[in-house]
Amino acid sequence: MTRWKISVDKNVCIGSAMCVAIAPDRFVLDERQRSGPAEAEIDPDEVVRDAAASCPSEAIRLIDADTGQPVDLD
Ligand code: SF4
Repeated sequence: MTRWKISVDKNVCIGSAMCVAIAPDRFVLDERQRSGPAEAEIDPDEVVRDAAASCPSEAIRLIDADTGQPVDLD
């Protein structure tokens, strides 16, 4: 099974904490209230996909570690 790489663009994140609310064990806010992944690479997880799709600023990217292609968020 492939793995997913999670990245959050802290310059785009507006600190809404939506991702933390949806997937509290997958995202953490830093001292500036900007999100980042708890682990940079994970097994595919639909909750993380939901969190990425729900980000109001589209700051979260999921990348298929095998192909290097973006994971479809739909
Ligand atoms: S949902 Fe998006 S904007 Fe909100 S904290 Fe997470 S990454 Fe930042």
